[in-house]
Amino acid sequence: MNRIYLSPPDVGRLEETYLVRALRSGWVAPLGPEVDAFEREVAERVGVAHAVAVSSGTAALHLALLALGAGPGQVVVVPTLTFVATANAVVYTGAEPVFVDCDPATGNIDVALLADLLHRLRVAGQRVAAVVPVDMFGACADYDEILPICAAARVPVLADAAESLGSTYRGRQAGSFGRIAALSFNGNKIITTSGGGMIVSDDAGLIAHSRYLATQARQPVPHYEHLDVGYNYRLSNLLAALGRAQLSRLDEMLARRRELRERYAKLFAAVPGVRLLGDPEEGGPGGGPDVDGLSAGVRIAPDTAGARGSNCWLTTIVVDPEQAGWRAGELGAHLAADDIETRPVWKPMHLQPIFSQSRAVLTGAAQRLFEEGLTLPSGSALDETQTARVFHAIEQFLAQR
Ligand SMILES: *Cc1c(COP(=O)(O)O)cnc(C)c1O
Repeated sequence: MNRIYLSPPDVGRLEETYLVRALRSGWVAPLGPEVDAFEREVAERVGVAHAVAVSSGTAALHLALLALGAGPGQVVVVPTLTFVATANAVVYTGAEPVFVDCDPATGNIDVALLADLLHRLRVAGQRVAAVVPVDMFGACADYDEILPICAAARVPVLADAAESLGSTYRGRQAGSFGRIAALSFNGNKIITTSGGGMIVSDDAGLIAHSRYLATQARQPVPHYEHLDVGYNYRLSNLLAALGRAQLSRLDEMLARRRELRERYAKLFAAVPGVRLLGDPEEGGPGGGPDVDGLSAGVRIAPDTAGARGSNCWLTTIVVDPEQAGWRAGELGAHLAADDIETRPVWKPMHLQPIFSQSRAVLTGAAQRLFEEGLTLPSGSALDETQTARVFHAIEQFLAQR
């Protein structure tokens, strides 16, 4: 039996055609017509004016932070519940990451804590270079709240939209929020170039500076002339071709991921103590179980929170062991025995040995999601046989409880 992965790359004949065409064109370099076209097409999809393609989402975050002026002696506010790249990019610039806990319903940055932290940093006379909200597992952070709070504090927002290409929030595309945003095309993301990323913004100056830094900070003169330390962060023309093929299939891939999430929602609706991350908590803020007058069987989140606008990159269940009578890790172990990959939610940054000395404002919500969450196979490449195997294994586990 072959292994079922969480989010394997979804590539086929179209990607092959685009890649071979780019290879035969002779543009085998980190620049070329495929890169230019990919930048235009992603900017158009996201709804921003400018974009620069780079070699990874991490590089995108790094350059976006530099473009915003992050550096030694400054602070950058980052959610503690994220992939380590968000925090590492801050450290690369010499700035200090300060971590903020999350909203337990969505896993996105806790807005009240953020407002309070920005106030206290201002009182302490700390310079804050940026706030970096992360669109957790595809669901947009609460920009309606975050943007005014950051504007009042005069702190620019860099959106880490590595996981959220194709998601919407209040009718706008992920990646269009804040001063600048970073996308990732890593192998496990919603679309992939095998490895790659992009910086997107309406600010032509920020994008031009990012492009300059990505190109070894080379001055526009015939010889090699350098005033700044630059980076070799450009995206290969071949990989941009792969990205263009993927982008042309984005809507079809989104539909598949959303369908998978809906099927998980139905499966777990009747299971006590289990909810989907991003759906409103029962009785909690966001509407309770009967939103839209539907019975408790199908829980539908409001447009703004999680499920409906999300690209559903990774569907995650949160298991309350008291109510459920089992732990998320036990289901993970059962599926692993069937060669089905699952994963815990990100281990929060404040619990990572490398960041144990960093400042953090905490409620315990991120740690609880780490302990009680389980991410399920969610990739658009999963076929019916594989999906049936996953659902059968979960049903078997539940029947034994
Ligand atoms: C994947 C990811 C990144 C990094 O992207 P790479 O392309 O892997 O460098 C950054 N932030 C978040 C939240 C991610 O999920």
